[in-house]
Amino acid sequence: MTGRADAARPAAVVIGGGLAGITAALRLAEAGHRVTLAEGRPRLGGLAFSFQRGELTVDNGQHVYLRCCTAYRGLLERLGATRLVTLQDRLDVPVLSVSGSETAPVRTLGRLRRAGLPVPLHLAGSLARYPHLGPADRARVVRGALALQGLDLADPALDEISFGEWLRRNGQNANTLAALWDLVGVATLNARADQVSLALAAMVFKTGLLSDPGASDIGMAAVPLGTIHHDRALAELERAGVKVLLRARVAELKPAEPQHAVRLEGAEPIAAETVVLAGAQDSAAALLPPNAIADQERLADFGTAPILNVHVVYDRKVLRRPFFAALGSPVQWVFDRTAHSGLAGTELGRAHPGAQYLALSQSAVQDEIDLPVAELRRRYLPELARLLPAAAGAEVLDFFVTRERTATFDPAPGSAQLRPSARTNVPGLVLAGAWTATGWPATMEGAVRSGHAAADEALAATGTRLPVDRGDGRWPR
Ligand SMILES: Cc1cc2nc3c(=O)[nH]c(=O)nc-3n(C[C@H](O)[C@H](O)[C@H](O)COP(=O)(O)OP(=O)(O)OC[C@H]3O[C@@H](n4cnc5c(N)ncnc54)[C@H](O)[C@@H]3O)c2cc1C
Repeated sequence: MTGRADAARPAAVVIGGGLAGITAALRLAEAGHRVTLAEGRPRLGGLAFSFQRGELTVDNGQHVYLRCCTAYRGLLERLGATRLVTLQDRLDVPVLSVSGSETAPVRTLGRLRRAGLPVPLHLAGSLARYPHLGPADRARVVRGALALQGLDLADPALDEISFGEWLRRNGQNANTLAALWDLVGVATLNARADQVSLALAAMVFKTGLLSDPGASDIGMAAVPLGTIHHDRALAELERAGVKVLLRARVAELKPAEPQHAVRLEGAEPIAAETVVLAGAQDSAAALLPPNAIADQERLADFGTAPILNVHVVYDRKVLRRPFFAALGSPVQWVFDRTAHSGLAGTELGRAHPGAQYLALSQSAVQDEIDLPVAELRRRYLPELARLLPAAAGAEVLDFFVTRERTATFDPAPGSAQLRPSARTNVPGLVLAGAWTATGWPATMEGAVRSGHAAADEALAATGTRLPVDRGDGRWPR
C-alpha cells in the first residue's frame, strides 16, 4: 500500500485491547480502515491475561467457554488458536460434595454429563443418577427446566425480578439452588440466583442447557491465556495492519467533524473518523462526551462484581481430574493448572517432581475479595484437604491469590436497562465491551460479540461493504 493510498483509507482508533477491542480492531482493519489500537496496559487481553510469578506463568483467573460461545470460538479461529484450546466431546462436570468434619469428611462424587440424545433428554440420565439431589428434588429441577424453556427472552419484564425469586415461584428449594442452579449460575453469571436478573440467567440456562445438546460442552485454553489473548492477538493485529500501542492510556476524547481527536497521555492527539470505545463502563463514563448515550449519568450506577482466584502449589499430585466443582464447601471450582503454568520446568518443579498447581475460581465473593492472604489460606487449605484426601498429607509449596475486584458488571435485576448498544449519538463513535447490550453476561463471548456489533455499526456508518455475516456469531468473511 502506498502512502497516498494509505492516507485515503478512513482512520479508526480502538480504545482498549481486551477481547472486544481486539475483535473490533481486526474487523475494521479487514474492511480497509487504518486502525490504531490504544491499550493502557503493557499487554493485550484485558481481563483475561497471564503474568509471570517468578518462573511460574499464572492466569489472572481461570477462564472457560462453552461450545455455544460461537463468537469467541470464531475469534480463536481467526487468531489461529484453535489448537491452543480444548473442548469436551461431551459435557462432563465432576461435582464433589463434602460433609462432616475436617478429620472425618464424607465425600460423594457425582457428574453432570450429557448423553447423545436430543434436548432435554441429553441431561435426563445424568440427572437421574445425580447423587446430590433426591428423587423429589430431581423432579423439581425438571419442573424448573420446563418452566425456563417457556420463558420469552425478549420479554423486558424478565429483567425486573431475580432468578432466585423466579426459581422459588417455580418449585425450587435450597437444595436444588445449591446443587444445580447456583453451581452453574454463580460460575457463569458471577452472582447468586437471588442477586441476578432473571433475564440474564434465563439466557444462560436456555442457551447453555436447553438449546443444542452440545451447547454446554466445556472448553478452556491449553496454554496460558496470554499466549492467545496477547501473543496470538498481537501477531494477527499487526499482520492485519493494525498499529498497536501498548502502555497508551487515552486521557481524552474530543468529538469533532469530520474527525474526532483521541488524546493519549503524554502524546499528540490521533485524528480518526471512527472511534471504538472498548473499555469497561468506568472508562466509558470518563471518556464519553456529554449526552453521547441515553441516561449517560446512570453509568455511575452500573456496579461491578469480583472474582477471586486462590492458587496453591502442592508437593505432589492431589487431584487426578482436570477440574471439578465442589458442594458443601466454600470452594467453588478447582482446576489443575500444572501444565499451563510450566511448573515442571521451574526450580520448584525440578525440586519436587510430581508437584501440582491448583487454582480455585471463586465467583461473586464480595465478602472475601479483600481478605488478607493469610486468612484466605486459613480458610481454603483445610477445605481442600476436606475435599481431596491427598491434599491432607501434602506440603504446600506456594500459596497466593489473584483478585479481580471489577471482574464483571453486576448482573442484578435492572442491569439490562443499564447496558447501552454499540451506537451512540455521536457520529463515528461506537461502544464495545462485555458490559454493553449483548444479551450475554460479562464473558469472553459477550466481549467478542460486542466487538462485532461495534464494527458492524461503524462500518455501516462509513458505508463500507460489510463482510458476509452468517448470523451464527462466527467470524464474518
Ligand atoms: C478472574 C476472571 C475470571 C473470568 N472468567 C471467565 C470465564 O470463565 N469465562 C468467560 O467467558 N469470561 C470470564 N471472565 C470475564 C471475561 O474475562 C471478560 O468479560 C472479558 O474479557 C471482557 O473483555 P472486554 O474486552 O469487554 O473488556 P476488558 O477485558 O476490560 O478490556 C478493556 C481494556 O480496555 C483498556 N482500557 C480501558 N480504558 C482505557 C483507556 N482510557 N485507554 C486505553 N486503554 C483503556 C483496559 O486496560 C483493558 O485492557 C472472567 C473475568 C475475570 C476477571
